[in-house]
Amino acid sequence: MLMPPFELHRPGTVEEACKIAAELLEAGHEFDWIAGGTDLIPNYKWHINSKPHVISLSGIEGVSQISMNEIGCMARLHDISESDQVHPLISEAASKVASSLIRRNATLGGNLCLDTRCFWINQTEEWRSSIDWCHKCDCGTGADCRVIPNQNELCVATYQGDIAPNLMVLDARVHLIGPNGERDMPITDFYQLDGMTRNVLQPGEFMLKVTLPDDVSDWTGAYRKLRLRDTWDFPEAGAAAAWRKGDRSTLRVATTALESIPRRHDTEVAESNGDVKAICDAVYNSTKPVNNTSLPPRYRRNMIKVLIKRACEE
Ligand SMILES: Cc1cc2nc3c(=O)[nH]c(=O)nc-3n(C[C@H](O)[C@H](O)[C@H](O)COP(=O)(O)OP(=O)(O)OC[C@H]3O[C@@H](n4cnc5c(N)ncnc54)[C@H](O)[C@@H]3O)c2cc1C
Ligand code: SF4
Repeated sequence: MLMPPFELHRPGTVEEACKIAAELLEAGHEFDWIAGGTDLIPNYKWHINSKPHVISLSGIEGVSQISMNEIGCMARLHDISESDQVHPLISEAASKVASSLIRRNATLGGNLCLDTRCFWINQTEEWRSSIDWCHKCDCGTGADCRVIPNQNELCVATYQGDIAPNLMVLDARVHLIGPNGERDMPITDFYQLDGMTRNVLQPGEFMLKVTLPDDVSDWTGAYRKLRLRDTWDFPEAGAAAAWRKGDRSTLRVATTALESIPRRHDTEVAESNGDVKAICDAVYNSTKPVNNTSLPPRYRRNMIKVLIKRACEE
């Protein structure tokens, strides 16, 4: 598992990062951003869509802030999970990501921009070569998707990040910046239902920070996660619920690890008139996980009802 060679760029400011990105784009060079590297480096070692240039966000000043209403992209998950400045739902979710060692490096931005996963792609290059590749990293062969066969236009790899559904139920906004300026949007609009495109980031753009509404501390909730080993595994299904303290009519529910994007279930909640069992059934009916993670999709789909019920019971 030798790392492919790449040129590392280390900007010290946001402006410098945007300038390097613009120059690389203009010269026609592909690149990736790197934050903690806990996801990108294993993918590079397995030669999954590695790029000749990598821009590190770790030397940029002022992007690690942690407060109730704002968290910078380079805030480490360990610091978020230990902080009493951050909303308890977010620190709970951060504490459930991977292992303590990984959380020391892993960042909020990297977690939200995490690559999607699938057992046909998260393998060594030799293994993938032995099955003649798949659409997500086809090595110029035009290979089909192995999960939805006979097509090479859509990748249904699964988004397995823990923090996004929790930010969704707290109405967070993501702030993006790049050579064409800054923009922000609700985090519910950030993800795109394609395991390769993943999100709405344009070439050269990166996630700068996440902001939360002024009244976020009036909200409470819980996050429940299904995984193989509690010590470090990715979610096989996850459910976040939040409501304004003392007012269950404000209930919001979001899920992760069931499809290529995390999703907030406003329609299912509204149509169920706040009845938790009806919400569980409605989300069960509207989600159809595919067979590309460790646990069988039928089990994950059944478990989402249990996870939502437990998150709401809190
Ligand atoms: C053994 C193991 C277990 C894991 N378990 C979990 C788990 O339980 N839950 C979970 O959620 N994750 C898990 N992960 C995945 C990963 O460690 C975390 O999601 C982590 O938060 C990623 O952050 P990072 O800073 O290391 O990202 P990086 O690896 O640096 O980057 C990840 C991706 O995001 C992009 N990126 C990074 N920062 C930005 C930014 N600011 N703007 C735009 N793009 C950006 C990179 O280009 C890359 O594509 C696990 C990983 C491993 C190796
Ligand atoms: S979902 Fe299909 S295209 Fe995507 S990684 Fe898996 S096999 Fe490859």
